Parts: sequence; structure tokens; C-alpha cells
Amino acid sequence: MEGNFKILVVEDEKKILDVIAAYLEREGYKVLKATDGINGLEIFKKYSPHLVILDLMLPGLSGEEICKAMRGASDVPIIMLTAKINEKSKLEGFSLGADDYVTKPFSPKELIQRVRAIIRRSYRGKSPLSDILSFNGNELRIDVRKHEVTKDERLVSLTPKEYKILLILASNQGQIFSRERLVEAAFGIDYDGYDRTVDTHIKNIRHKIEDNPRDPKYVLTVYGVGYKFGG
Ligand code: CA
Repeated sequence: MEGNFKILVVEDEKKILDVIAAYLEREGYKVLKATDGINGLEIFKKYSPHLVILDLMLPGLSGEEICKAMRGASDVPIIMLTAKINEKSKLEGFSLGADDYVTKPFSPKELIQRVRAIIRRSYRGKSPLSDILSFNGNELRIDVRKHEVTKDERLVSLTPKEYKILLILASNQGQIFSRERLVEAAFGIDYDGYDRTVDTHIKNIRHKIEDNPRDPKYVLTVYGVGYKFGG
């Protein structure tokens, strides 16, 4: 379940950034990294992470400024990292809207525990991406609830059959589907269309979602077997 959660870490000290990222990834979280505030905000806007770990002292935009900007845009949980140890800055961190506060030097294990606790509290009972499938950052996005597919934030118009095929492949990333199985899964076993019609649907899907339909990265052909989703 952790794998569905995206965590943005904004930290200018590369060593600390890498350690935090490694610990988070080991827990199964998806990690987005930024080493300065401007980049951090860009990534935040583009990928809507589920939690932000934010260093207070950053070049360019400070952690305070970023925190304010994020708070103006969303309720995303924010954990502030800081070397400032006095209570005054701690209170300021909270008044800016940080959900938690970790003072450097900190143990990565402790940070992970805080992350887990906040994720649990904020997304209780929710697997946030269960109705959103997103690939390559957010390049390709499937909103299962709305039946909407977007590529580079532009709506892709798929027929109901194309949508079903794409959804089945994308929600079983890496799994190989024979044409027969794909027809069955997408249209039901009573569907008496010829297996090869799948190829036509696949071709159409590729034209709509792939950068280069001749060299697809999402809907892949497994020669002699069928198809699978790459991403
Ligand atoms: Ca710093």
C-alpha cells in the first residue's frame, strides 16, 4: 500500500536527501526529490505528492515560504526539517502549517515513523491511487472513477473498448495478457469478436497515448504471446 504514496523531499544537502530517499524507498514509498525551493514547488504543483518533507533552510525560497505556498494550495501534510532547535522556531513551523517538526540531526528511522504516522492519520482507509493510476510522474494518468485518461495533462479520447483494454493492462503492470485473455477481461467471455480485433484497439490506443506509437513504452507487444503494460 505504501507504494501508492508519493512523498516529496525538499532538502539542499544532497547527502541527507539521499539518505531520506533511500529510507522512504525501502518502505515502499515513491520519492520525489528537490534540492531547492523553486524546484520543490514546481514538483509539488506538477505531481501533487501525498506528503512533503521540507528542509527549513534552503537556497532561494526558504522552507517557510514554500510551506506557505503549499498551504495556500492544499492540505498536504508537511514535515519540517530544521537545524533551529529553539521552541520559537518550532512554534513558527506549526503556525506556518507544518504538521510535524523534526530537528536535525535526526535518526532516519524516527523520521520514517513520523511519516508513517502522518500518512496513516491523513489517509486512513484510503489507498489514494486506487482510483488514480499514474505513470512516469504524471505523464499518463487514468482516473478510474471518472473514466478519464490524460496524457501530458491533456484529455485523451478513448472508445469504451479502448479504455477497458488500457485499464486492464495498466492496472496489471508488467503482467502479460494473451489476446484471448484480454478480450475476455475487457469484453467478457461472451464477446464473439475475433481476437485480432484487439490488435486494432491496441493500435488505436498507442496512437492516442504513446509519444511514438511505433516504439511504444506503455502498451508493449510480447511477441507470440500478447501484450503487457510497460510504463
Ligand atoms: Ca538546508
